[in-house]
Amino acid sequence: MSQGASQDTKGQGGLTRAALFGLCPRCAAKTLWDAAAAFAPSCRACGLAYSEYEPKGRGLYLVLFPLTLLLMAGALSLDDSLHPPLWLLFGVLVAAVPSAMVVALRFAKAAVLVMRLRAAGVLR
Ligand SMILES: [Zn+2]
Repeated sequence: MSQGASQDTKGQGGLTRAALFGLCPRCAAKTLWDAAAAFAPSCRACGLAYSEYEPKGRGLYLVLFPLTLLLMAGALSLDDSLHPPLWLLFGVLVAAVPSAMVVALRFAKAAVLVMRLRAAGVLR
C-alpha cells in the first residue's frame, strides 16, 4: 500500500485504532502505548515522536472527574438496586474502575494526539 492510499483510509477509525489497539496514527504499526495509558516516546517503525504531542497534566482531569462521578453513581445504584454481597460489589468495582479509567484515558489521549498531529500537519 502506498503512503497516499494509507493516508486516505485514516479518519475517525484512526482514533479508535490508536486508542484501543495502539496503532501509530501515521504508519499503523502497533507502537503507541508503552504502558496502560502512557505513550511510547516515539514510533519504533516510522519515528513519529509521540512524546511531543502527548497530553499531560490537569487537562486529563476533565476526563477523569466526570468518569469518577459516573462510576460512583453506578456503584451506588448497583448497590441500591441489587444489594450484592460486599465481596461481590468490591470485586466488580476493582475490575471495572481501572478498566474504565484506562479506556477513557486512552480515548482522550489518542483524540488529543490525532488532533495535535493534524494541527501540526503531520496527518491530514
Ligand atoms: Zn509510526
